[in-house]
Amino acid sequence: LSNKLSGVFDGLRARGALSEADVTEALREVRLALLDSDVALPVVRDFVTKVRERAIGSEVLGSVTPGQQVVKIVNDVMIEQLGGEGAVPINLNAPAPIPILMVGLQGSGKTTTSGKIALRLKDRLRRRVLLASLDTQRPAAQLQLAQLAEQAGVPSLPIVAGQTPVQIANRAMDVGRREGFDVVILDTAGRLSINQELMDEVRQVRAATNPAETLLVVDAMTGQDAVNTAKAFNDALQITGVVLTRMDGDARGGAALSMRAVTGAPIKLVGVGEKQDALEDFHPERVAGRILGMGDIVGLVEKASETIDHAEAEKLAAKMLKGKFDLEDYAAQLRQITKMGSLSGMLEMLPGLGKMKQQINDANLDTTMFKRQAAIISSMTIKERRTPDIIKASRKKRIAAGSGTTVQDVNRLLKQFDDMSAVIKKMGKLGQKGLMRHGLSA
Ligand code: GDP
Ligand code: MG
Repeated sequence: LSNKLSGVFDGLRARGALSEADVTEALREVRLALLDSDVALPVVRDFVTKVRERAIGSEVLGSVTPGQQVVKIVNDVMIEQLGGEGAVPINLNAPAPIPILMVGLQGSGKTTTSGKIALRLKDRLRRRVLLASLDTQRPAAQLQLAQLAEQAGVPSLPIVAGQTPVQIANRAMDVGRREGFDVVILDTAGRLSINQELMDEVRQVRAATNPAETLLVVDAMTGQDAVNTAKAFNDALQITGVVLTRMDGDARGGAALSMRAVTGAPIKLVGVGEKQDALEDFHPERVAGRILGMGDIVGLVEKASETIDHAEAEKLAAKMLKGKFDLEDYAAQLRQITKMGSLSGMLEMLPGLGKMKQQINDANLDTTMFKRQAAIISSMTIKERRTPDIIKASRKKRIAAGSGTTVQDVNRLLKQFDDMSAVIKKMGKLGQKGLMRHGLSA
């Protein structure tokens, strides 16, 4: 399939805007790749429609072939549909003890994942976690969790025979409160298939404990059925996140795309083995590569996006040289920097500007701030982005609130933008000379 796909893309040679025929041809193979990865049929249809809408008529940039352009769009849409660039952490934004409810079918990996999450919260975030099994269905289930808890070095709720799941949950929360736990993980019983009894049981537990997270655990090997499972659980419980287990196996991970599409809930974690440390953050871009399932295509995508980035960078550089640089450009710049590594990389494309690189580095570009800064800028109005001078106290407050940051963060961004503008103005003058020396005109 991999070769077939790249073959199709190589075959697209037309120049200019992508034609409907180009796109249709390429998307036929994409559809097969998705079905092959066990993405649910209705989700495949939606996905292909989205790519088609975006692709037809889109401009083919610079040295990118139409095929590469389609691949780039497929990859972009896939990452978007999987939930954007970053991993979404477990929500611990609630008063302690914070209940986390684990739900899913029998054998999906709830108990194992409960242990893994407990270990992670304890080791990485230094939280005091209590593990409680509400599984009264399987005789040894509560013992299984107690053993996992012991391995993880996390306490588990003492087992009391004859209690209902709701009674156990209430007891767990009581112990959590009394003994000062930060988090209580409630591991529920599954069933072999969705049924009323299961849903009623978890619904009652949810009502009794009001969890900060209701995590649906799904086996990545489930394939087409994952959609029905996700839909049933989400309709009954409004899940807040998904854990995809057994991603260490052959599964391509198409279930991720299906579940995200059906529930809208982010995929938060990925199980990659039976051991307790075999738990990873969900990275949309990695899973997108896996669903599309072909290393060479991913390489092609990267090459294509690099080329596109260069074209965008050149446009931006021209704007800089003309001395026109506002916060919208800065936001574009931030996106470029995170993709291309650094602003200095971009400067290398401009002749005669080697010395400016150090100055840019000195402008105190802290990579951890880029995402926050991008969020701040996206909370501004277009007018504010184009004329940052108008951003005074009350606007700062509004922007900070809108972007989930503080007024100090907004101030820091504006200061940094000022610093950059100053450097860029200087660079503009230097650049004109440099360009002239190389016999180019701006
Ligand atoms: P539950 O019924 O939902 O509680 O499922 P369990 O947690 O008992 O897991 C069922 C089986 O799946 C166990 O043998 C686990 O070791 C195994 N398992 C769980 N998660 C993973 C995973 O990410 N990778 C692999 N390979 N096995 C897993
Ligand atoms: Mg279990």
